[in-house]
Amino acid sequence: MNKKIQMKNPIAELDGDEMTRVLWAVIKEKLLLPFIDLKTEYYDLGLKSRDDSNDEITYKSAEAIKRLGVGVKCATITSNAARMEEYKLKQLTPSPNGIIRAELDGTVFRKPINVKNVKPAVTCWKKPIIMGRHAYGDVYKNCEMYVPGPGKAELVFTDENGNETRKTIMQMKGPGVIQGIHNLDKSIESFARCCFRYALDEKVSVWFATKDTISKTYDGRFKELFQKIFDTEFKADFEKAGLTYFYTLIDDAVARIMKSEGGILWACKNYDGDVMSDMVASANGSLSMMTSVLVSPDGKFEYEAAHGTVQRHYYRYLKGEKTSTNPVALIFAWTGALAKRGELDGTADLVDFARKLEKATLGLIEDGIMTGDLKALANPAPKEILNSWDFIDRIAEKLNQEL
Ligand code: NAP
Ligand code: MG
Repeated sequence: MNKKIQMKNPIAELDGDEMTRVLWAVIKEKLLLPFIDLKTEYYDLGLKSRDDSNDEITYKSAEAIKRLGVGVKCATITSNAARMEEYKLKQLTPSPNGIIRAELDGTVFRKPINVKNVKPAVTCWKKPIIMGRHAYGDVYKNCEMYVPGPGKAELVFTDENGNETRKTIMQMKGPGVIQGIHNLDKSIESFARCCFRYALDEKVSVWFATKDTISKTYDGRFKELFQKIFDTEFKADFEKAGLTYFYTLIDDAVARIMKSEGGILWACKNYDGDVMSDMVASANGSLSMMTSVLVSPDGKFEYEAAHGTVQRHYYRYLKGEKTSTNPVALIFAWTGALAKRGELDGTADLVDFARKLEKATLGLIEDGIMTGDLKALANPAPKEILNSWDFIDRIAEKLNQEL
């Protein structure tokens, strides 16, 4: 065995809850610590620790990602009434992902992990489709009203000096519904920057779509700002990398995506992203084969699995069962963070290690050896279904052959 790979700078490590916390420790012990002199700043984002610190630990971990530039996060419980009771909490704590996303002003991108023997339902998709959803405003921060009878519905804006601008929405002849929505230039611009930045990082072209033929001012603003940010900040880098920015109407984008071979980043407005990312995820087979990356407009990265803490498996684990929980997305969270660290620090052997660990993991699945969740999806049928611990051991064996 050669000597361990050295890291120049640490990454922020955000531990989490339940089954993913259990697997987190196994992945570190079997797949990372034997090979790397692992440098992390550790933050325990387990529910109890967040509650004890009144969420200070979550804010500290976000600060660490901003300072170090790279973070890796385990799945965490978002508390609710049942969890208050279960963990004897002082208070309901807000979603840590929500806090970190707000602190970094970031966008979450979901990217499927493809293997040859688990094919997407859409057969022409040869390469991953990365989904980016604008997570601010629109119908998610709306103001809506039921009106019981005839009347005039108006849109009124009052500026800081008290000047009003009015437009009639509808002279209503009977009962109905009305709603007001908004978005901010600043948020749209941040979203555009996150998308272009991550696309450059992943070396994929960007698609963006709205309904600006109908919504000329509102959706038109999205189109205009995306084009402005692209032209002034990213065009040159995209050209250098041989990548493109493509704008079209949302219905055209949906039609085209079904016939594309993938390998793009699809930037979506909030509602489109909510709907289309679930479609793309489900067509790709399984949440356990999907990574999630939070990217800030100034290029800070946090890697995690797209799935949650796999609570149901955890309760079986607590009863003594060695569950067949899929660790692939968690492993890819680590390899994503380590490769990014290596890239930023100029440590090629760290990047190389991350790629080899990914290759060993996917290679094992392509050999027909996998966890139970992939059983129904794999074609040809799997040779062996393993529990998580045995599966990770076999990855380690394969990795040792690679190194
Ligand atoms: P989940 O943890 O994603 O699991 C839902 C179901 O999906 C599991 O019961 C399991 O199905 C399957 N599954 C997910 N990941 C899997 C894996 N790696 N291997 C095998 N099967 C997998 O969602 P949840 O049960 O709704 O949420 C549990 C907790 O996670 C909640 O407290 C929620 O707040 C939290 N959560 C956190 C994040 C995050 O931190 N990013 C995201 C989502 C949810 P079967 O039971 O049928 O095998
Ligand atoms: Mg949804």
